[in-house]
Amino acid sequence: MERISWNEYFLAQSHLLALRSTCTRLTVGATIVRDKRIIAGGYNGSIAGGDHCIDEGCYVIDNHCVRTIHAEMNALLQCAKFGVPTAGADIYVTHFPCLQCCKAIIQAGIKTVFYAEDYKNHPYALELFEKAGVKVEKVEYTSRQSVDNELVDQLLHELEESGVDQEIVRNFSERARNLIKDRA
Ligand SMILES: [Zn+2]
Ligand SMILES: [Zn+2]
Repeated sequence: MERISWNEYFLAQSHLLALRSTCTRLTVGATIVRDKRIIAGGYNGSIAGGDHCIDEGCYVIDNHCVRTIHAEMNALLQCAKFGVPTAGADIYVTHFPCLQCCKAIIQAGIKTVFYAEDYKNHPYALELFEKAGVKVEKVEYTSRQSVDNELVDQLLHELEESGVDQEIVRNFSERARNLIKDRA
């Protein structure tokens, strides 16, 4: 059995949180981790009790939706709200943080930013992270889909090896791939 890495595990949590996002422009998730424990999580959405972009449309000013609080900010504010220290913690985000979040992350004492996807990657954010001694690392995320595909490959290989009719193997292969594709 192959275990997923801690990085993959925490990023998966962020991807899960992103599914809770209420802004249609970009769905982002963030997970704050200390000593391999999740201490907070956030996604980009409106303030509690506020209108949601998915219901009312985005409130766009200067090409930015101003209705939402970013995922990273929400996760940090959750720590503030409940008095959880963020000094020395790590943050896992689905997308490279914007400038505002970058500054908040530094100021909160976060030590490492793990992210899955590049997103504009503002050079000033990179410069600020570097000056503050915050490590930034892109994590190659193995999607569930590729894990599934690998499993199907193995199963089909075993079937072939055991002398099952080629036609039957091909048939199973097609059905399995369609199943994975439908779920993606
Ligand atoms: Zn929006
Ligand atoms: Zn941001």
